[in-house]
Amino acid sequence: MSPRNPNAEPKPFVWIPLPKDPPQRSQPTTHERFSGLTGKLELTFTVVSEYLFVGSGAYEFDPNHNNQRPDVWYTFYRRNGQIWVPGTSIKGAIRAIVEAISNSCVSQFRPNKGERVPPSHQPCRRSNELCPACRLFGMTGLRGRVHFSDAFPEGQVRLQIVKIGELWEPSSYSGRKFYEVKRAPQIADRRPQRNFRFVEAVPKGTRFRATLHLENLSEAEVGLIAYALGWDVEREGAVLAFSPKLGGAKPRCFGAVEFEPVCAVWWRPREGSKLPVPMRQDQRPLLSLLCRCMEAARAQRLLHESSWKSLVKNMRPQETSCPREVY
Ligand SMILES: [Zn+2]
Repeated sequence: MSPRNPNAEPKPFVWIPLPKDPPQRSQPTTHERFSGLTGKLELTFTVVSEYLFVGSGAYEFDPNHNNQRPDVWYTFYRRNGQIWVPGTSIKGAIRAIVEAISNSCVSQFRPNKGERVPPSHQPCRRSNELCPACRLFGMTGLRGRVHFSDAFPEGQVRLQIVKIGELWEPSSYSGRKFYEVKRAPQIADRRPQRNFRFVEAVPKGTRFRATLHLENLSEAEVGLIAYALGWDVEREGAVLAFSPKLGGAKPRCFGAVEFEPVCAVWWRPREGSKLPVPMRQDQRPLLSLLCRCMEAARAQRLLHESSWKSLVKNMRPQETSCPREVY
């Protein structure tokens, strides 16, 4: 079977076009001086698609499957027997969204797979001329100012071994690729089958806890991250605009999550002292700070309005089903 199936189902991804204007590149903010917002945001994220799968590439197998049940399956990331989502994986997903909504460079693409990026949006190379995303997340030789801790699930986790069609990559390239939020097809037949694989996944409703560490961010930069986490401001209140996607099997419509801020701890300068002190902020004041930050990102045009609109429109959950087989 080839990926060029004439009866192909609708593709589960969209291309967000690159803006004509080049990224606004400038000097990075340094770590030396203590300025702006520094601290950590406690977050939860809840799986809102049928499943989330974050695998390390490791697998397990059942030698007595008798062709009736899964033979080999890819396992979820585990540490000391507990599943977890690596912070680097969350950061990668959020960075890709920040790049799209701030007209930044395209940091990840594969020229050997025919993916082309125009010169204007090639990865930043000079450390004193960085696009908004590279200023926040860093580049080779420059440490970023945004980090995610590893995320662990809250409460009991019901892991399931789910059968999915093999994953095909799109063969052409025109902008930034984002997977849509559609229903994942349920495959009742549990037998091993050619062009299908099994993955160990957590179902809808599973909630994880993570920490987002921020160093010396301007309010507009915090606002940009907030938009990338799927939030927006409406009538001066924070609302959910879309569900970012994490982990693997995105072409099978896995991985949509809803982020929620819980509380924050900010390091603030204190009168008469050189050392900053930690200040805890509960959810309500945190939400108003985030709204102010998002408004600043919009006002300072760090948020690229048309790219944001296009992303939100295309990531709206759809009633249609994700392709079951090749597309
Ligand atoms: Zn860049």
